[in-house]
Amino acid sequence: MLDKLISIIIPAYNEEQNIPVIYDQLKNILSRINFNYELIFINDGSQDNSEKELKKLMLIDPQVKVIEFSRNFGKEIATTAGINNCRGECCITIDADLQHPPELIFDFLAKWKKGAEIVIGVRQNNKSESFIKKIGSFCFYKIIGRISEIEMVPYATDFRLLDKKVINEFNRFTEKNRLTRGLIDWLGFKREYIHFEADKRLNGKATYSTVKLIRLALNSVVSLSLFPLKLAGYLGIFITIAAGLLGLFVIIEKYVLKDVWRFNFSGPAILAIIILFLVGIILICLGLIALYIANIHKEAINRPIYVIREKNF
Ligand code: UDP
Ligand code: MG
Repeated sequence: MLDKLISIIIPAYNEEQNIPVIYDQLKNILSRINFNYELIFINDGSQDNSEKELKKLMLIDPQVKVIEFSRNFGKEIATTAGINNCRGECCITIDADLQHPPELIFDFLAKWKKGAEIVIGVRQNNKSESFIKKIGSFCFYKIIGRISEIEMVPYATDFRLLDKKVINEFNRFTEKNRLTRGLIDWLGFKREYIHFEADKRLNGKATYSTVKLIRLALNSVVSLSLFPLKLAGYLGIFITIAAGLLGLFVIIEKYVLKDVWRFNFSGPAILAIIILFLVGIILICLGLIALYIANIHKEAINRPIYVIREKNF
């Protein structure tokens, strides 16, 4: 089995303290499996000493491969670069902050050997997560589960194993705005799940700020589903019908029945309400359409997804 290569993909952004720790743990675990392996670190434009730490590892260990980004592109893109550049029969993506227990790699590989093409780590709970983040991810999964065209498993993480077949298909995706998990879920294939408890981040702070997460969630909704676009349409239809009926009622009550119920509607008041309402709706629609156009724009200008400054393999 030693001829088979396994790629471990570790995106890292400002993880100078965690890099040596995750390296040691991974080494320890991988020395106990019967596969050849490569550790691909993607340095996602870290501003700390991550680059130096990785250079050190590179010098002492030929199994360490490093992709240096020219700047910070975000975790989704970093993971993508790792998957694009790995050569293994399968790859495992894992966070550098030890929130994904490396010892689970045994279970991932066991499921893979039994024929699973994708193995997904599902998080039971996250001890360090703030209440807002918890609520946020709960709502995100509820909403996206309802409206998107693909099925996403709640609390499925980026701790995943992908078979070569899946990697090849994944490499055909060209979209720039991506939620790696979502794309993998879209692919289908035979899946298995592994449940685990996410530990506290070892060192440093989670760099996915709330704003970044909200942006990611919004982008995923837009790129994975056409529902918001349709929603604007439905809302428009509903409002038009409701306003039409209301208008009709007012006209009949006022002019045909000569105000028998004594509502005494003033014309400008009604007009003002209707106009305000419709302006609101138009703005919502415009906002949504702008999101889609921004997405189309990004795809259309066809920039490279990421820029590599240095690569040692
Ligand atoms: N990460 C990255 N680029 C970024 C932000 C994060 O490569 O712009 C990496 C980070 O180093 C870590 C993983 O992605 O290995 C998860 O990041 P974090 O712990 O900040 O996010 P969370 O645990 O909240 O998902
Ligand atoms: Mg983390």
